[in-house]
Amino acid sequence: MAVTTSQAVVYKGGGRRYLTLRSACAAEARALLKTRCECETMDHGPMGYEHLTCWYHEDERNAVLMRRLTGGYMRRFRSTQK
Ligand SMILES: [Zn+2]
Repeated sequence: MAVTTSQAVVYKGGGRRYLTLRSACAAEARALLKTRCECETMDHGPMGYEHLTCWYHEDERNAVLMRRLTGGYMRRFRSTQK
């Protein structure tokens, strides 16, 4: 085995490059949600820290939002391709 190179299309999303359209769209979706994120860590001193998850990052809702946004970005991308 030897190292070789090959040319491939890379998809850019969320400021990074990906080999699949889905990954790039998921990254773009994550980046969008991050701009709305209001997750917080509360410092209660000796009582310790409490992590408050925002509306956008609650597990179930986040899964739904990610699925919708990722699908939306994929459709939008494909509609710009011949
Ligand atoms: Zn959040």
